[in-house]
Amino acid sequence: MSAPAKDAVLHLDKVERVYVSGASELPVLKGAELAIRPGELVALVAPSGAGKSTLLHMAGLLEKPDRGEVFIGGVATGSLDDQARTGLRRTEIGFVYQFHHLLPEFSALENCIIPQMIAGLTRGEATERARQLLAYLRIDQRADHRPAELSGGEQQRVAIARAFANAPRLLLADEPTGNLDPKTSDHVFEALTTLVRETELAGLVATHNLALARRMDRTVTLKDGLVVPYEEG
Ligand code: ADP
Repeated sequence: MSAPAKDAVLHLDKVERVYVSGASELPVLKGAELAIRPGELVALVAPSGAGKSTLLHMAGLLEKPDRGEVFIGGVATGSLDDQARTGLRRTEIGFVYQFHHLLPEFSALENCIIPQMIAGLTRGEATERARQLLAYLRIDQRADHRPAELSGGEQQRVAIARAFANAPRLLLADEPTGNLDPKTSDHVFEALTTLVRETELAGLVATHNLALARRMDRTVTLKDGLVVPYEEG
C-alpha cells in the first residue's frame, strides 16, 4: 500500500500508463512521482508527445493509471467508483484549457454559475460568488456577454473564474495562455497566479512558455516517463 505525501493536495505516486493499440504498446508514464502542496504553483514543460496531457488527465481523474495511485487531498482515488471520482473532480479540481471551452449559449456570468449549481449551491449563492470572481478578474463589465462577444483574453479570464467557482483545492491548466498574444497572456497569467497564491490552491500548469514557467515556484519535465526537475539550457 502506498501512502499519500504529507500535506500534498496532489500526489501522483509511481503512476504508470501504457497505451495499447493492436499489438503495440506505448508506455507513456513509467512511475511518475509528483507532489504539490497548497499555494504551490508548478510548471510542466516538456516536448509534444512526452505525456503532459496524459499526466494532467491522471491528476484530473479523467483517466486511471494502470499502476500507481493518485491522491487528491490525501484520498486514494484508484479504488473510488465513477460517481465518487466525478464528485471529487467537481469539488476539488478546477480546469483551465488552451481554448476556453465556455458554453457558447450562456453568458460569462452563467458560465460561472452553472458548475456551482451542479455542485449543489443555490442560484443566489452561485450568482454572488460568480460576480465576485468576475470582478476580481476585472471582467464584471462583461458579465452578461456570451463568449463569442468577448476577446480571447476576456474568454480566458472567464474560464479561470469558472475554474475557481467551486473553490477547488487543485488547479490544472493545459497551455492556459497558449492561444493569446504575449501582452494578454501576461495579464491572464498574472490573474491566474495571484488567485492561486491568494486561495492557497495547488496548481499544475503545462506550458511551452519558459518565461511564464520561470514565474512559478518550480518547473518539472517528463523524461522517459518520469517527472524530473527541468533544467534550462
Ligand atoms: P503531450 O501532451 O506531452 O503532447 P500526450 O500525453 O498527449 O503528450 O501523449 C503522449 C503519447 O501518448 C503520445 O505519443 C501520444 O500519441 C500517445 N497517446 C496519447 N493518448 C493516447 C491514446 N488515447 N491512445 C493511444 N496513444 C495515446
